[in-house]
Amino acid sequence: MSTVQRFLGPSDLHMHSVRSDGTELPAEVVRSAHRHGLRTMALTDHDTTIGWDEAADAATALGMTFIPGMEFSTRRRHGGYNLSVHMLAYLFDPDNAALRTEMDRIRDDRLTRAERIVANISHDHDLTWDDVLAQRAGDASIGRPHIADALIARGLVVDRAEAFDGILHPRSGYTIPLYSPDPLRAVELIRGAGGVPIIAHPATAGRSGMLSEDELRELIEAGIAGFEIDHRENTEPGKSLLRSLAAEYDLIVTGSSDSHGAGKPNLPGENTTTDANVARILAAGTGRTATFPG
Ligand code: AMP
Ligand code: FE
Ligand code: FE
Ligand code: ZN
Repeated sequence: MSTVQRFLGPSDLHMHSVRSDGTELPAEVVRSAHRHGLRTMALTDHDTTIGWDEAADAATALGMTFIPGMEFSTRRRHGGYNLSVHMLAYLFDPDNAALRTEMDRIRDDRLTRAERIVANISHDHDLTWDDVLAQRAGDASIGRPHIADALIARGLVVDRAEAFDGILHPRSGYTIPLYSPDPLRAVELIRGAGGVPIIAHPATAGRSGMLSEDELRELIEAGIAGFEIDHRENTEPGKSLLRSLAAEYDLIVTGSSDSHGAGKPNLPGENTTTDANVARILAAGTGRTATFPG
């Protein structure tokens, strides 16, 4: 398709705005991407598409290419523990009924869960649900980062990192897991909506580690299009395994910043995706088109 040839790199395909847990408006995220030299970007807020139109308009005004995306919350149950798996989805139909039903369910649980976490915290710390709502912009997908921002506003921690290392760490006992479908179900939903599923930061050194090689192979067989390999939180041994699987199955490989504005140190463009891989994503997504300059 000719549209596939019209984009320019460098490309950052994983960025957050205030529509989830970033700190900048979607248009500001686009402008910040442009200032960092990027010419193609994707907005990938957690479990929502509400920032797409605003970001697309800002990108058009700057002569940038905009790829609509989302970071879909999924969870693999492993007997005694749960592994949170973030699934990037690009170019899917945001009105697809099956996908929309699951997104709404996750977003509803984000509210219920955050309110319950705040109730738990409030037994020991001076924090109210209104404090947290004051940190949320409109219909943003609410999450622990908004609770962190409320703790900062109360002077209980200095930044989000301190909140996540302490009060919001699962070992503190205040947090509860978010309702999320299994990654296999997410792949089915994203593909069903014409989208391109790519596992976000698959090799983070979290408490429960990463998906096993067998689980990754099962997800590949189920339709995973690729892996986000160049991401600051992926471990070196994890990246080696991902690279060898990507080569074996000829998968798409991406690199991205996962920037959250002032919410994380990650800077736009600190990792980028090659033009060849961006072209593969553009060619594979059929649920929605990217917005091209000119
Ligand atoms: P939740 O969606 O409620 O499970 O919260 C997870 C989100 O918190 C992730 O998307 C990250 O953006 C953010 N997060 C996790 N750890 C940290 C940290 N140490 N500093 C800032 N943000 C974090
Ligand atoms: Fe986030
Ligand atoms: Fe993530
Ligand atoms: Zn992210």
